[in-house]
Amino acid sequence: MNPLGLYLHIPYCVHKCGYCDFNSHPENREEAEIYVATILSELRHYASQLADKTIATVFFGGGTPTLLSPANLGKIFGAVKNYYNLGEDCEVTIEANPATVKQEALEQIRSHGFNRISIGVQSFDADELKLLERIHSVEEIHTTLHRARLAGFGNLSLDLMFALPGQSLEKWRANLRQALAKKPDHISAYGLTIEPATSFFKLQRRGLLRMPPEEIQLEMFRATIKILSAAGYNQYEISNFSRPGFESKHNLNYWNNGEYLGLGAGASSYLNGRRFKNTNLPSRYIRAVQAEGAAVESTERLDLLHAMGETIMLGLRRLKGISIAEFENRFQVSFEKTYGKVVDALLDEGLITLNQNRMALSREGIFLADSVILKFMA
Ligand code: SF4
Repeated sequence: MNPLGLYLHIPYCVHKCGYCDFNSHPENREEAEIYVATILSELRHYASQLADKTIATVFFGGGTPTLLSPANLGKIFGAVKNYYNLGEDCEVTIEANPATVKQEALEQIRSHGFNRISIGVQSFDADELKLLERIHSVEEIHTTLHRARLAGFGNLSLDLMFALPGQSLEKWRANLRQALAKKPDHISAYGLTIEPATSFFKLQRRGLLRMPPEEIQLEMFRATIKILSAAGYNQYEISNFSRPGFESKHNLNYWNNGEYLGLGAGASSYLNGRRFKNTNLPSRYIRAVQAEGAAVESTERLDLLHAMGETIMLGLRRLKGISIAEFENRFQVSFEKTYGKVVDALLDEGLITLNQNRMALSREGIFLADSVILKFMA
């Protein structure tokens, strides 16, 4: 059976963080109950089309999935198990915001079969949390990490952000040291990017955000790699580090350009060469699923060049890069004929490597990943 990633989007948040451009909406308990019933309907809708697939990973993301009660989370995962073929060692992740989970809730969530937790720490510095408009305190981070382990989560990931307004290199290093002291199995460390339609964007336009200079941002990224590698974490993707064997299987499927089904408001899917996306607004999503069983708002079939470009774009994010043999097998093209000139130019610049029929970013290329990847999309 063909493996498939399953993503379930829970769009509610207590407060919109200043930098957030995810599909998140104010907490609405009444609507959330209907939302849960709607996801169950949507799960049923797609089940018959996916009888030949095995769900290799399940990811509850948001938003803040832990705003749903453990009973509701269990109900949704129960439906996944009922309607779909679940792989034997299926990775089942839930994202959690430190201010939204109590010990009992974590224990219940774990008992429903969730085996991985990804905690949105972002920073161990009280001033930085305030600036980011996170709803949790440093204290709550420590408590939540402790509780997650007590509840039996043997696979624990932390999200951190660097290049924050006013952040110094030393403050970022201190964040990394605090994260390491918690002995997580996995760390995602992303540089802050200011996206349109966020309140940070407006502040930046008014000159009110003092971003670290680019060379400091680069130093922060270099320090991330150095400190986490020295502590035994393997950088397996540009922004993701793990202890051996704790790579995120769900995200690896994205970077392999594998198939996935996304359910819930605004969720995206990639199935049978077609990308499609649900409508963003929870109320509209609910109405669409109630009327038609699904809430797809846009769909796109990728042509060959586009599909190949995306496979390279995603694959180069992994430090081990892409297998040229697998690429040629998948698309039935000669890699050399299609990308030979681009590859030669990037090799000359020292930005990629070619070893044992794999193409990967070089040590320098990692820092210029976006511009390297763009060359393959032209
Ligand atoms: S908790 Fe996450 S999804 Fe919710 S507003 Fe903050 S950044 Fe966005």
